[in-house]
Amino acid sequence: MTATLSADGFFGPYGGQFVPEQLRSVLSELDQAFQSAKQDPEFLRDYSYYLNTYVGRPSPIYHCANLSRRLGGAQIYLKREDLNHLGAHKVNNTIGQILLARRMGKKKIIAETGAGQHGVATAATAALMDMECTIYMGEEDIRRQELNVFRMQMMGATVVPATSGQRTLKEAVDEAINAWVLDADNTFYLLGSAVGPHPYPSMVRHFQEIIGSEARAQIQEEAKRLPDHVIACVGGGSNAIGIFSAFLNDSEVVLEGVEPSGRGLECGEHAATLTLGQPGTMHGFHSYMLQDDAGEPAPVYSISAGLDYPSVGPEHSFLKDAGRVSYVMASDKQALDAFFMLSKTEGIIPALESSHALARAIELAPSQSPEALILVNLSGRGDKDVAEVKHIVEQGGCAG
Ligand SMILES: *Cc1c(COP(=O)(O)O)cnc(C)c1O
Repeated sequence: MTATLSADGFFGPYGGQFVPEQLRSVLSELDQAFQSAKQDPEFLRDYSYYLNTYVGRPSPIYHCANLSRRLGGAQIYLKREDLNHLGAHKVNNTIGQILLARRMGKKKIIAETGAGQHGVATAATAALMDMECTIYMGEEDIRRQELNVFRMQMMGATVVPATSGQRTLKEAVDEAINAWVLDADNTFYLLGSAVGPHPYPSMVRHFQEIIGSEARAQIQEEAKRLPDHVIACVGGGSNAIGIFSAFLNDSEVVLEGVEPSGRGLECGEHAATLTLGQPGTMHGFHSYMLQDDAGEPAPVYSISAGLDYPSVGPEHSFLKDAGRVSYVMASDKQALDAFFMLSKTEGIIPALESSHALARAIELAPSQSPEALILVNLSGRGDKDVAEVKHIVEQGGCAG
């Protein structure tokens, strides 16, 4: 099945453009530029050139023989997005959008960041294209990810702290949108996930589809068939939609998105938007959302800074309602156990975000036959999380 995107940017009831009037024409200009770029052989050549030579694509798939044997069930394969330059899938999207910004003649890049991964990828690609770059980041995330802040600054970006509310990703998006409204003609807003007003969700998906198209061909080459399960973690939903996109029409392939149940299911202790949220509107689009009694975005929490966002990409909301993708949860504790298990058995330290997807695979594998194939999108590497994990372990582990 294919999620039908309407001309005005809706996946069923989700998506759209809920933005101030000044941004409507900017978004429509962006959409036109994107539609023409994605069919332009020169643009496609540049995109492939940088993916191959700068990012290091194609990323391999890897059979976790040790982990699979230890769990005693399905064979687990990883799509190694952790091996990309900068350590995650985010760069696939920043390369695509920065080439689009250059094509549109924009000179200034702004972006939001949560964990700092999107900020780092944006700062790097802005340096690559010699563009001015400003990154908005919640003050709390700046504290949690100080090395990423320094990386962005090293690559020439200005990091602006968002000091309102919970001082995390939601507030960073608010401030980036405000800055964009003030100077929309000269500024390209480089959005980091499959969220935001149309055309961002479908544009970010487009630039992440490379994950799924490579992985589908690679597993067919290696295992001579399609996987039984494809599993990805869901923050805004870009790595998940990127890998799912290649399998949506294969009804025999079970697709699972994993959200963080954090420390528990009370408000403020998790970020399980699709599982526990209700449809609502924020940051310019309609989707499942975690909201308080007044309909405002609720406080969210996860051990992984990249997953604590109170909304989710509108295509995921559509795929949930359509029943094509199942959305499940993994707790901080399960993610941390998966983080250590992959490190020990395979010598691969996963990002805490990706550890949520792994946790689901670890839970599922023992009940499957040894012929069953589970493909996990390893969206990033864990180097950025090592200091935080060390701190958590020294405090005596985590609840959940
Ligand atoms: C940012 C990030 C995520 C979450 O973002 P999505 O848009 O949901 O993919 C997941 N994994 C890693 C490693 C990240 O850096």
